[in-house]
Amino acid sequence: MSTTSQLLRLADHIDGDVFTRSDQAYSERRQVFYGEFNEREPGAVVAAASASDVSKVVVFARENGLSLVVHAGGHSVLGHSTTDGGLALDLSRLKGLDIDEDGRTAWADGGLLAGEYTKATAEHGLVTGFGDTPTVGITGITLGGGVGFLHRKLGLTLDSVLGAEVVTADGQVRLIDEENDPHLFWAIRGGGGNFGVVTKLHFALHQLDTVMGGMIILPATPEIVANFVEIAENASDNLSAIAGVAVAPPLPFLPAEVHGRLILLGVVVHAGPSEIAESEVGQIRRLATPLLDGIETIPYPAIYEEEGGPLNPNAVSGRSFFSDEFSVDDAAAAIDALEASTAPMSVIQVRVLGGAVARVPADATAFAHRDRKMIVNVISGFEEVGDRPEHEEWVSATRQRLQHGENGVYINFHADDSEPAVREAYPGSTWDRLVDVKTKYDQANLFSSNHNIPPTGLESDARVNAPSVAIGQTRR
Ligand SMILES: Cc1cc2nc3c(=O)[nH]c(=O)nc-3n(C[C@H](O)[C@H](O)[C@H](O)COP(=O)(O)OP(=O)(O)OC[C@H]3O[C@@H](n4cnc5c(N)ncnc54)[C@H](O)[C@@H]3O)c2cc1C
Repeated sequence: MSTTSQLLRLADHIDGDVFTRSDQAYSERRQVFYGEFNEREPGAVVAAASASDVSKVVVFARENGLSLVVHAGGHSVLGHSTTDGGLALDLSRLKGLDIDEDGRTAWADGGLLAGEYTKATAEHGLVTGFGDTPTVGITGITLGGGVGFLHRKLGLTLDSVLGAEVVTADGQVRLIDEENDPHLFWAIRGGGGNFGVVTKLHFALHQLDTVMGGMIILPATPEIVANFVEIAENASDNLSAIAGVAVAPPLPFLPAEVHGRLILLGVVVHAGPSEIAESEVGQIRRLATPLLDGIETIPYPAIYEEEGGPLNPNAVSGRSFFSDEFSVDDAAAAIDALEASTAPMSVIQVRVLGGAVARVPADATAFAHRDRKMIVNVISGFEEVGDRPEHEEWVSATRQRLQHGENGVYINFHADDSEPAVREAYPGSTWDRLVDVKTKYDQANLFSSNHNIPPTGLESDARVNAPSVAIGQTRR
């Protein structure tokens, strides 16, 4: 029987829908965040309506030798949530959210986005911290870590995970936590989408109503940039900040007078008492006369309503790495690099870690870089995919100049999925432990469209061996 006719049978057996090229909604359903990956055409997009649907899709893919990708919020920096010819499992219908206000926990479905979840829980004065972008999927970000506006106060997003519902490669729907399948539970907190499809996450909720937060734009001199980072490092855990240095593009949310100027675009959230917030945010404000000061007391979810939203160029080259220092010399080098970049949009971003992130033991989850001081992102955005080599060279030289300390990367920002590159995310015994869990739960590497951890027995580039039959091919 051809896979196409089997797909029709799958459609009859699930509550969700199967979209193929002949369906009008297909084109929209397969879209991901970065335009360059939208040239890919999955053989079918399957929009699951339940964990049981997910299980049927997983079994169908396995039994038919089809490649399978998981599409939650669609923000993979490497286009992992789309594919040419295989099955794209679309989680966007899984939007349930069950909030236990008294117990301060929530069971959240795998298709929710950070902004949707935050808006709903904040109505109860409760939050879980995600990243800086409301349209990122809650599962995608959590499985890799979760660094955003509250990580220094509450830890990484994955530090708030109490349990999960996961559909593994054998099709089983498992409820996992510290007691049940503890090794799998350890691995999904940092190991990405390697171990199964996460259909629900059980989160701790934290009480938080208002924060002092928003965007501030300062002129970018080496001293101002380095001092901003230093203030963020020395502040109380209430302050999480992102420092982005860029030549201001002509975007509507930036005042016209800063277009073309080197700016420090800081996004700041202070989740502490107002006197401490005034004092710590005041230090940032006093660095220079702000070109724009949008920091004010706001309900926490309003931080996701900042004007502008993410820049979304067609193609991006980027390197993200942990580093342990950002001196005035580094800031000067960053500024020089930005002035020399030929890309229409280049940014060097520093996110200070520490606080609650650093208080979790390195082996408690698969995110082991607990002692690193900061994440630095060097990003170059452009329209013509053919210009990539030139921008890659800039990105790579800038990384070399700015990195201090051991090699190490945060998987969610990591734009390289070769095995040596993925190993940089999992130092020491973390890698071996992840390989063991992968081998136990996904021996055939069905879940391989990710920063892949190959199971024992498969060659190092496991994707070569992963099932990849295109839909329409007849299996013999
Ligand atoms: C504009 C932008 C801003 C970002 N900001 C931040 C930030 O502030 N902080 C931060 O920490 N990260 C940030 N990220 C990185 C982001 O966390 C990762 O790219 C994340 O993987 C995206 O998740 P998604 O669900 O949106 O993407 P998708 O592309 O849908 O998923 C990415 C991959 O994650 C895996 N996956 C996702 N959901 C599941 C699931 N339910 N079960 C199994 N596997 C799954 C799959 O391998 C999938 O291919 C940002 C990315 C972008 C593009």
